This record gives sequence, structure tokens and C-alpha cells, in this order.
Amino acid sequence: MAAYDDENIFAKILRGEIPCFKVYEDEHSLAFLDIMPRATGHTLVIPKVRATDLTDIATDDLGALMGTVQTLAPKIRDALGADGFMIQQFNGAGAGQTVFHLHIHIIPRRAGESLKPHGTRMEDKDVLAKTAETLTAALSA
Ligand code: 5GP
Repeated sequence: MAAYDDENIFAKILRGEIPCFKVYEDEHSLAFLDIMPRATGHTLVIPKVRATDLTDIATDDLGALMGTVQTLAPKIRDALGADGFMIQQFNGAGAGQTVFHLHIHIIPRRAGESLKPHGTRMEDKDVLAKTAETLTAALSA
């Protein structure tokens, strides 16, 4: 595994150097919309600690991250009227990882709706902004 690169895109988002559609933040984690969602409401949850992938994070920090995922996922599902949610997480380029700061995908699922391909189609900014508004309200409640 390559060393953590502080110039990766999610490190820049964490430092506020590039924008994101943030939906939730706590002392351990940041959650924001995927700009190429596989389904409406596709959210990424990242730890604030530097970690390349699942093998690169202390158990306590991973526990805090997954606690946030466990809290947010059903709220995201319900806020968007989805039927369920899928959790995805890639480790290594060969497994499909493209951004090398650990992240957990929360993907709301609707019965009968196919997933869009992974990281291929940029969503319209107005659609992302509207979804972020809905989720920010739901996740702060
Ligand atoms: P990975 O394959 O590493 O698990 O997925 C990286 C995810 O990050 C992809 O789903 C991709 O759409 C998303 N992504 C890539 N660049 C950006 C970005 O600049 N901002 C946001 N919000 N998501 C991004």
C-alpha cells in the first residue's frame, strides 16, 4: 500500500480547500454527497484521521467512523423515502478504489431501481444542492 498522500481530493475537502456538498460533520467524521452518485443520496463518510484504506486506521477510529455510518444510513434512507441502503467500501486500486483516503459509501436503494455505474456520471449541481439540503436537515434532527 502506498503512503498516505495529503494532496488526495478528500484530504483537500477535509481542509476546506475544495468545496463539497456537506451533509454532516462531527469530531471524528465528515459526510458529503458523492458527485457521481450511483443513486440519489449517495453519501461518502470519511474519517478525519489520515487513513488510506481499511487496513490503515486504528480500530477505535474505525469504530467511531462506523458508528457515524450506522447513525446516518437509516436517516438518509428515510429522508429520501428509499427502501433500504447499501454500504460499499473499496481497498486498493485493483479493487476499484480511486480516492486514497478511506471512505464508506452509503447508497440509498429503491426496489426495482438499478444502480448507476461506479464513479462515471457527474450529477447536476442543482440536484446535489437540493439533496444536500434535505439530508442536512434530516441529519441534524
Ligand atoms: P472509490 O472508488 O475510491 O471508493 O470512490 C471514490 C468516490 O469518490 C467515487 O464514487 C467518486 O464518484 C467520488 N468522487 C471523486 N471525486 C470526487 C470529488 O471531487 N468530490 C466528491 N464529493 N466525490 C468525488
